[in-house]
Amino acid sequence: MKNLTDTHAHLFYPDYEEELDVIIERAITSGVESILVPATDLASSAKVVELTKKYDIIYGSVGVHPLDSKEWLSEWIPLLEQTVLANKDKIVAIGEIGLDYYYDYSPKQKQIEAFRDQLELAIKLNLPVIIHNRDSDDDMMEIIREFTPRGLRAQFHCFNAPLEHALEYVRMGHMISFTGNITFKKAEELRQIAAKVHPEHLLLETDSPFMTPVPFRGKRNEPANVLYVAEELAKLHHLTVEDITRITAYNAWRFFKIGKAPETSIVYPIGDALYVNVTNRCNADCVFCGRKETPFLADIIWGWIKMMSPVFNNMSMQLVLR
Ligand SMILES: [Zn+2]
Repeated sequence: MKNLTDTHAHLFYPDYEEELDVIIERAITSGVESILVPATDLASSAKVVELTKKYDIIYGSVGVHPLDSKEWLSEWIPLLEQTVLANKDKIVAIGEIGLDYYYDYSPKQKQIEAFRDQLELAIKLNLPVIIHNRDSDDDMMEIIREFTPRGLRAQFHCFNAPLEHALEYVRMGHMISFTGNITFKKAEELRQIAAKVHPEHLLLETDSPFMTPVPFRGKRNEPANVLYVAEELAKLHHLTVEDITRITAYNAWRFFKIGKAPETSIVYPIGDALYVNVTNRCNADCVFCGRKETPFLADIIWGWIKMMSPVFNNMSMQLVLR
């Protein structure tokens, strides 16, 4: 397994300070190829920029979390913009931003103001956003519906809203991610939502140092554990872990431009079958075909391949596209 992507790990937390080299080494050994570290306020935004300069594997996002927006001033926007420009090849998003009505650390109006200001910044800089949403589903949906037609692209991190919201966000073209909490025994409802989000809209994340997956639940989380999230998603989608990591790594590259560009190939193995991309000029309109959305493999096509696998298995063929 060589291309795991952890799109959410707060590696600037004091929990890691002394051990960061070891933790990153462990992530690399486990097959993690890129880690996105989202900031939560102005101070951590500056720390994230430093981390992206120090470690090749680390990308970052800058922003002010809803729970840190009590003192929000629109004057912070140019400061955030400066932190993006401080390493603009590796600061790939605005986040983590959003709404959180579960805690009352920041008044609702202040949260909404900070959120909207930062969405405007993301649109201005043409960057995606990383969204935190807790007990604020309706306000969140209203704001996202308003900003999406203006070009907003969002990742709903640690997704915890109703299924209909997940499906509407996906229809708008946004991305959804789940943490180690989908491995928890009582998370059946969440697993059902995760199973219904098409793999082309999924990203992998740990939310380190929180949300540690089974079998390490209760301990401090770290990017190496993203494998357990990938395994759970693979099970839910009846795919192999290799398939889920490849699809989500491609999604992360497409969405954030992090990691490596995927290698394209006409014939490639998926699970225990061969996928043959016979032509990219087909003008048919088959409902099961993922070609129009992205050039990657959809799980509906995966079902079709399994059906056809006696034909494709162990078959070697050369195709030339003209
Ligand atoms: Zn977070």
